[in-house]
Amino acid sequence: MFDCIVIGAGFAGAVTARELAERGNQKVLLVERRTHLGGNAYDCLDQAGVLIHQYGPHIFHTSNRQVFEYLSRFTSWRDYQHRVVASVQGRLMPVPFNLTSLELAFGSEAAARLSKKCIETYGAEKKVTILELRQSTDPELSALADYVYEHIFEYYTMKQWGTTPEEIDPNTTARVPVFLSRDDRYFQDPWQGIPADGYTALFERMLDHPNIEVRLGVPAETVLTLRDGAAELEGAAFTGAVIYTGAVDELFGCRFGRLPYRTLDFQFETLPVEWFQTHGTVNYTVDEAYTRITEFKYFSGQTLPDRTTIVKEYSRAYTGSTDETPYYAIINGANNALYEQYRALAGAYPRLRLLGRLAEYQYYNMDAIVARALTLADSLIK
Ligand code: FAD
Ligand code: UDP
Repeated sequence: MFDCIVIGAGFAGAVTARELAERGNQKVLLVERRTHLGGNAYDCLDQAGVLIHQYGPHIFHTSNRQVFEYLSRFTSWRDYQHRVVASVQGRLMPVPFNLTSLELAFGSEAAARLSKKCIETYGAEKKVTILELRQSTDPELSALADYVYEHIFEYYTMKQWGTTPEEIDPNTTARVPVFLSRDDRYFQDPWQGIPADGYTALFERMLDHPNIEVRLGVPAETVLTLRDGAAELEGAAFTGAVIYTGAVDELFGCRFGRLPYRTLDFQFETLPVEWFQTHGTVNYTVDEAYTRITEFKYFSGQTLPDRTTIVKEYSRAYTGSTDETPYYAIINGANNALYEQYRALAGAYPRLRLLGRLAEYQYYNMDAIVARALTLADSLIK
């Protein structure tokens, strides 16, 4: 009865399901073990009526026109340009660390000299990663690098990853470079915003198609079996494509050991004030046990004069317990090699495709996942 099965209703699964159903005219079964759509982008009203992101703050941003236009079929957008500040010894300075942060840290005279030198060395409006800046042999730039490292990266990264910035994948800290600019936005992508009615509404529209059957609260393993290179759906041989967007080690019973992840504990608080902080997100880069506080009304634009909801994020090692979510793959040589062992197992199933942040063990933003889902659907339809 079904032509293909999609596991997981996050961006990877939902976009693939829609494409296969609509463009491929295939009958799609989508199973999701949570009781809601959206994967980690899921949002909902809390008890105070604030639209919160249950699995952490999600801001859409992309430089990929095709992705933006594709999602715009299912939502309009609330213009929102994310701005983040770091709380450093009582001062709030823009992150990514930029020319304004430089002034706040060093005073206008020293900052003028340093910014001139930075721009002469790297170029105006350039982004320089902290690891690159630390390579500088110029004593002033080296002192600047030390300052940024110690006040922005070191402690935050220790909290987030349990290790130093040098020991994590360099692409991770490169996401938040030193920016030789006055632009104090967190992202510079041409398209950014928040779905006007929220992410969950976007997913509801995307999956509202006569060729798609969605089953929520259903773990894949209760309907799908993979054995000896063949798939079974509810006990009967299934020869269609299976698109799996969950953690790949779980798919094979973690037989080579668990893939390491970081998980997060979210502490939500509703407070009887209109605004708690001056920015959507404040990063705690030199103190506190949590990494950041996000205030959701900045995203939703809701007018609620007497209340607001914030979330504090605490990062720790994922243990695999069922009440935890694997949020961040810990990308390094050993873990990538373990991932490859699982990928090789998946290779024995010719109709199985691994897609998404979990299944590919990567650190993808939403737009990257949408792009990958569109590409995968293209190849399956052809
Ligand atoms: P997911 O959203 O994780 O979806 C996978 C789904 O599969 C889940 O719903 C899961 O329940 C389901 N599933 C897994 N296993 C099974 C199974 N066995 N059976 C049935 N269902 C199963 N990206 C941005 O672009 N901007 C941001 O601001 C941003 N902020 C983020 C903040 C945090 C704290 C985190 C963790 C991520 C953030 N991201 C952000 C990244 C974004 O969450 C991912 O790009 C996106 O969720 C990836 O979609 P996905 O479908 O691959 O995975
Ligand atoms: N980072 C940091 N200090 C900051 C912001 C980021 O040290 O104030 C580092 C940290 O290692 C983090 C990485 O840069 O994990 C990427 O930050 P990003 O905000 O992209 O993380 P995400 O939103 O994906 O959690």
